[in-house]
Amino acid sequence: MLRFDDEIPAPALPGREPRTPETVRAQVLGSIGGGLLSREPVHDIDVERESMPDTASRVRLEDKRVINGTADVNQLVPFKYRWAWDKYLAGCANHWMPQEISMQRDIELWKNPNGLTDDERLIVKRNLGFFVTADSLAANNIVLGTYRHITAPECRQYLLRQAFEEAIHTHAYQYITESLGLDEGEIFNAYHEIKSIKEKDDFLIPFINVLTDPNFRTGAPGADQQLLKSLIVFACIMEGLFFYVGFVQILAMGRQNKMTGSSEQYQYILRDESMHCSFGIDLINTIKLENPNLWTREFKAEIAALMKQGVELEYRYAEDTMPRGVLGLNAPMFKEYLRFIANRRCQQIGLEPLFDKADNPFPWMAEMIDLKKEKNFFETRVIEYQTGGALSWD
Ligand code: FE
Repeated sequence: MLRFDDEIPAPALPGREPRTPETVRAQVLGSIGGGLLSREPVHDIDVERESMPDTASRVRLEDKRVINGTADVNQLVPFKYRWAWDKYLAGCANHWMPQEISMQRDIELWKNPNGLTDDERLIVKRNLGFFVTADSLAANNIVLGTYRHITAPECRQYLLRQAFEEAIHTHAYQYITESLGLDEGEIFNAYHEIKSIKEKDDFLIPFINVLTDPNFRTGAPGADQQLLKSLIVFACIMEGLFFYVGFVQILAMGRQNKMTGSSEQYQYILRDESMHCSFGIDLINTIKLENPNLWTREFKAEIAALMKQGVELEYRYAEDTMPRGVLGLNAPMFKEYLRFIANRRCQQIGLEPLFDKADNPFPWMAEMIDLKKEKNFFETRVIEYQTGGALSWD
């Protein structure tokens, strides 16, 4: 620690006397003696004036914008988008890791030849086939695309958290695949090889590619609309619609006491994804608010058409994964469910509902999102998260 009698090396300023220990001591004592409060220079006026920071370039709230902002993106505060910061904090409070959940009962059930029907096994394999690469696409979309184009540091902070959550989800799907001893090549290649999965990804990838193209820049209305469209496809169709048939299927298994470890993993993933979707919707609505010129009649019609296409693709996926009724579920129930979700997504971003009548046939899904962190700790006996190390178990 520096003391007053230490020699403080001080650079000489052009045209001024070099600072000496005496002038520095006088300045510090002067500050303590009232200089700080009165803001009057007490001693060594030249040195004090030189050390005054230039505050002209400090971040002003009015310069912060979600896209095309001019404020320094490295300065998180002053907060303008507190909703994004709050979601970042909530995401951190919900932290979990796949290894905290025991897969033992799933392994026993899967290895028992009479444990599950062929239709139930098909659901698990198709499910993992979609998700094991979907969250990697989501991570790429954030890290290589969206992040670069968002100029609000509060939103960037959330996106960093979200990117790690996507990695945790990929980890969870890999962990289930490995635990059950599934053919990794078959599961990880399903997005190339299984038509109903490939069609969903083929629909999504062009919208991700727009944002990850190194030559893509926002700033002109056309480009800003492209960004907004990709954000809507990502939050409202990919995370907000394409994940839900899969979530219902595995969580329905868990409700029947089957694949309970996998089901618990999916519960945590569903909770994270609900937050991703909600963040995305807030992001979209804030961009709309800040750039009302983007929300044209043609643009809205285009989004509605994409939403309808998303419902069709997800319904085909439901039919493909459930050729017959299974677990008290059948494909037509999902037609209703997908229409219900699509209507909700439309309303959340300020569009008219697309379908006349659509109710939620799975009201229990709402309870699944309200998962309590304590359950994780009490049931799996994790002692604590260690800084920079592995989890510790008793
Ligand atoms: Fe996500």
